[in-house]
Amino acid sequence: MRSRFSAFARGDIDYLLASWAPETRPARFASDPQTQWHTLTVVSAQANDARGEVHFLAVSRQDGQWHCLEERSRFRQEGGHWFYIDGDPVLTTLSPGRNSPCPCGSGAKFKRCCGG
Ligand SMILES: [Zn+2]
Repeated sequence: MRSRFSAFARGDIDYLLASWAPETRPARFASDPQTQWHTLTVVSAQANDARGEVHFLAVSRQDGQWHCLEERSRFRQEGGHWFYIDGDPVLTTLSPGRNSPCPCGSGAKFKRCCGG
């Protein structure tokens, strides 16, 4: 899961496709170079035999707009590797206040960081 997030952040399409279950893997997949991924928060993760589910929040920035992607992803384990099956992504736009923590995850106030 985290490795897929880093692959998204790096734009590593080969890795993303390789860790995608064949039955749901898209024939073609392009990452958006305009989107910068910042933080990943795993809300919960559970694995049961060869099935896994990860509920996560991922914060990204595109053209100065902050978004939070929330998804419950389903995974399957095969040959010691986890494969992404599918999920139910919900994208919301964030409007950070000047004094709220910066969504980039720096720990600084928004106005002293990306919002400055
Ligand atoms: Zn920031």
